[in-house]
Amino acid sequence: MAAAREGQPRAVARLISFVEDDSPLLREVMQALAPHTGHARVIGLTGAPGVGKSTTTNALIAELRRAGKRVGVLAVDPSSPFSGGALLGDRIRMHDHAGDPDVYIRSMASRGHLGGLSWSTPQAIRVLDAAGFDVVLVETVGVGQSEVEIAGQADTTLVLLAPGMGDGIQAAKAGILEIGDLYVVNKADRDGADQVRRDLRGMLNLAERRDDAWRQPIVKISAARQEGLAEVVEEIDRHHAFLAETGELHRRRTRRARLEVEAIAVAELRRRWAGVGVRGELDTLAAGVAAGTTDPYTAADALLEAHLGDPGTGQA
Ligand code: GDP
Repeated sequence: MAAAREGQPRAVARLISFVEDDSPLLREVMQALAPHTGHARVIGLTGAPGVGKSTTTNALIAELRRAGKRVGVLAVDPSSPFSGGALLGDRIRMHDHAGDPDVYIRSMASRGHLGGLSWSTPQAIRVLDAAGFDVVLVETVGVGQSEVEIAGQADTTLVLLAPGMGDGIQAAKAGILEIGDLYVVNKADRDGADQVRRDLRGMLNLAERRDDAWRQPIVKISAARQEGLAEVVEEIDRHHAFLAETGELHRRRTRRARLEVEAIAVAELRRRWAGVGVRGELDTLAAGVAAGTTDPYTAADALLEAHLGDPGTGQA
């Protein structure tokens, strides 16, 4: 644990594996780490496949390193199943910062996991936070619900767009207009980046917003050429200052903690239910619902009343 707090990559990796494996040791780990959390800035980065997320992450790391920041990255792919450790090599992504002890990059998959993304990502963020990383970058593939979840977990959410990807419609569809604190138009070295920016600005302007609300900036970059990243970091800093001044940072982090507690409680409840053999009972109730002899609410109440308690006893 001490080694992880010093940011030693192997020790950090081990603790994140605990998260992925939902290890029984996690409870103790989180207890020990808690007093050392709260320092890191959590930055979410999302966007459609091919828009340049991993290239941008690499470029952003380089920019943050220039400013002396230690950077931890979680690349979360909600669509790929857990590998169960068999493909560990695959989960460590190739990047330009291999060998830099102040950069740690880890891929995580979470479909099928008890509690899913909303459970595992915040725990992994905690590990990196306690390990002394100044910035924790959480990169997710933009696929609907997952990006909204990530937005809930970050202090600042970056939404990445690029020309030539039908972004206007994509943007509106995926609800990204609600989640971005900062929009980054990548591939500015190509035609069409200005058009994407104009379209996006138009859409953002249509959204209703209070006068004192944050006005989402749009920054053009070329991640491949490492251009524009300083401005991205500047805007992240400006957003952070805004959050701190308005008290929103505290509100966001409290909201995040609430989701975390809830996700853990729900996962724990499921685990306990599995332990007392709820499945058979659930089957009976489900048969009743399917046959129309009872309704799903009544059945859910019956299940809750019988089993909302301690492990093994079924008592409340
Ligand atoms: P991801 O799927 O969102 O992670 O996207 P990648 O970072 O893998 O990039 C997808 C493709 O876009 C790759 O072929 C990159 O080389 C290319 N790409 C990324 N950034 C830029 C850029 O700034 N300009 C141009 N022209 N291509 C880029």
